[in-house]
Amino acid sequence: MMGDRDYRTTIQNAVKSIGDELEIDIDSKNIQTIHLQEVVRCMRRAYYDRIDPQEVERRGFNELLSGLLRKLQYGSDPKDFDINDLKLRGQADMIVDDAILLFRPGTEELENPHASDVLYLNACMWIYDKEDGIVVYITGDRKETTFSLTRNKKMFEDIIRRVRVLNNLLKEQKTPILEPSTECNECQYYERCFTQRKNTKQTSLADMLGLGKKD
Ligand code: SF4
Repeated sequence: MMGDRDYRTTIQNAVKSIGDELEIDIDSKNIQTIHLQEVVRCMRRAYYDRIDPQEVERRGFNELLSGLLRKLQYGSDPKDFDINDLKLRGQADMIVDDAILLFRPGTEELENPHASDVLYLNACMWIYDKEDGIVVYITGDRKETTFSLTRNKKMFEDIIRRVRVLNNLLKEQKTPILEPSTECNECQYYERCFTQRKNTKQTSLADMLGLGKKD
């Protein structure tokens, strides 16, 4: 807090508005189009996002990197992959020299890419029909870590299976099972998944031992 103004709130509001602007637009009513980002992470979260959404708290400008790049002139357009009557919609951040590029924020230099980013990148390589893919992590102090990937069919088939599962669950209005992972730590639905309010009855020790007052 400086002077009378709460600059932290101002910055948080700015990050939120830019984040909302850059967010991939998902039409929650159109369950025949499933977005790639919905199936590379926890599907329960994706389900709640469509059925009963709660706002996610954004932590900084670094998180907006990928969305900003997609909006620039060299950002790539979304592309659909047909799965019978369903569509899987993906969007790479950039396509350069026939390679898919993704940019992700990082808090530290990584040994390995995050599993959800590998799934996203691999699926983009099939959707756009490209052989090479690269994911670049950029930390707040401008350090970069780059990983390259060659596409894997089995991994993509698993994504297609998840698209069908999410579509069915949305159709039947059934909440997907918990998919506990490190994602839960920053998930806005943590309390819905892991905190249950129990109707506890106040009982005294005397009652439990059958020594309560009798009329
Ligand atoms: S808390 Fe975990 S299991 Fe629950 S919706 Fe979020 S990511 Fe999924």
